[in-house]
Order: sequence, then C-alpha cells, then structure tokens
Amino acid sequence: VRIIDTMPVNDVYVEDGKVYSKLDLAVAQAARISLRTTDLDYKPEQAIKLVKTLFDLGHWSPFEQVVIKFQCKVPLFVAVQLIRYRSVSWNMKSGRYTTEFHEVYKPTVWRGKHPTNRQMGQGEVQLPEGLPQEVEAYLEWGLALHKKLAHHGVESGLARIVLPEAIFTEMQGTVNARMLVHLLAQRMAHDAQQETQEFARALCEQWRAVMPYFGALVAQQEGWE
Ligand SMILES: Cc1cc2nc3c(=O)[nH]c(=O)nc-3n(C[C@H](O)[C@H](O)[C@H](O)COP(=O)(O)OP(=O)(O)OC[C@H]3O[C@@H](n4cnc5c(N)ncnc54)[C@H](O)[C@@H]3O)c2cc1C
Repeated sequence: VRIIDTMPVNDVYVEDGKVYSKLDLAVAQAARISLRTTDLDYKPEQAIKLVKTLFDLGHWSPFEQVVIKFQCKVPLFVAVQLIRYRSVSWNMKSGRYTTEFHEVYKPTVWRGKHPTNRQMGQGEVQLPEGLPQEVEAYLEWGLALHKKLAHHGVESGLARIVLPEAIFTEMQGTVNARMLVHLLAQRMAHDAQQETQEFARALCEQWRAVMPYFGALVAQQEGWE
C-alpha cells in the first residue's frame, strides 16, 4: 500500500526545532472558519494546540477536511472486507476488463481456530504432509484454468469464476482523515483478520508519516504504541 496523494499537499517541515505537517495544520485551519479567521499565518504551535483541543472534545468535522488517496495490492478476500467501508471512495482492477491475474496469496502459517471467538485465529495448525502443496497446486490451477478459458475466447467476466479468493487485486481509495481512522481502528484491532490487519498497519504507518500529530493522538487513544 502507498499513499499517492493528499489534500492539502503533503509538506512536513521543521520550525523552531519542532516537526509540523501541513495536513495536521489544515485541521486547525478548517476549524478556524468558525471564528472567520482562516488565515494560515497563525503560529503552527497554536494551531497544533487547537488540533489537540478538537480531538479531546470529539469535534471531528475539521478532521474530515484532510483527504488521503492511496493505492494497494491485496488478496481478494481482504479487498472484500475493505470495500465494505462506504466512507472510502474505491476503484478496483476489473475482472471484466482484464484477465491479468498472475499472483495468489500463499500463507506461510496455517492459523488454527480460536476456541471461543469465531472471528479470530489462534496458534498454528500442523497440516498433514502434502496438504500445503495440494492447496498451492489448487491455487495455481485456478490461475491456469482462468487463462485457458480466456485463451478459448470466454468473456473475462465469466472466465473469472474459476479464480480463487486468494488472487491479488489492485485498488485505489480516497478517504478523509476522520474516516480513515475509523477503518484503521476496526482493522488494526486484535479481532480483525490477520491479513487485513497487515494491510491496515502498513496504511497506518504511511498515514502517520504525513499526519504525525493527529496520528500520535489516535495511536495513544487506540493503544497502538
Ligand atoms: C471484526 C469485524 C467483523 C465483521 N464481521 C462482519 C460479518 O460477519 N458480516 C458482515 O456483513 N460484516 C461484517 N463486518 C463489516 C462491518 O459490519 C462493516 O460493514 C464494516 O466494518 C464497515 O464499517 P462501517 O459501516 O462503520 O464503515 P463505513 O461504511 O465507512 O461507514 C462509516 C460510518 O458512517 C455511518 N454510515 C455509513 N453508511 C451508513 C448508513 N447507510 N446508515 C447509517 N449510518 C451509515 C456509520 O456511522 C458508519 O460507522 C465486520 C467488521 C469487522 C471489523
């Protein structure tokens, strides 16, 4: 996953020995419209204090004025969980327009079932000899069969029915900072699917690089560090 664009344009800089980000400061700038003083000449230190006040009071709308655009490559079963977020605008590689699916996700660890929580895995299951190879062959076979159908002229939208959920797909999402935090909080939680957690952690790392102050406030609240 990588962030490809932001509004405002990403700009992290140092002033008086402190690191500031245009994205963090944009939250304060948006909030100041209430006082009709939207000028950006406020000292960044004051602006950052305002961001903290808004966060503490739960005044979320100014955080919606910052927008993040990202691209990612994820297995289809992760993509299905992500597109449930209606607050993100998504575009996705189309199985109707292309037959270019060459890669499948192959787990290195077979997680076991959690005894009480159906959403979670626990530990590692030792599969009988040959079973991991059988799964791998099945996944590769799905890709090969898909190509074969396409080769024989079958419409891409129909040929894709043989593709496994493990295929990697590509997506682009655009989301405001408030709703990004909503997604990250749900998908970095311990009961989220591990592969989706990995995606969320990678996106979070990138987001915190462009919005370090708000990122740190959220991380503290969510217990991420
Ligand atoms: C651990 C976990 C397990 C899950 N298990 C299942 C499952 O078994 N089955 C299943 O179907 N889904 C499941 N989900 C998906 C879940 O129900 C949500 O669809 C998903 O997490 C997106 O959350 P959201 O709707 O809050 O996000 P968004 O769609 O981004 O919405 C953000 C917020 O906007 C508001 N909103 C958006 N649209 C509406 C609307 N139409 N009406 C009212 N308010 C709205 C809500 O406040 C919402 O929280 C699971 C999610 C998690 C994290």
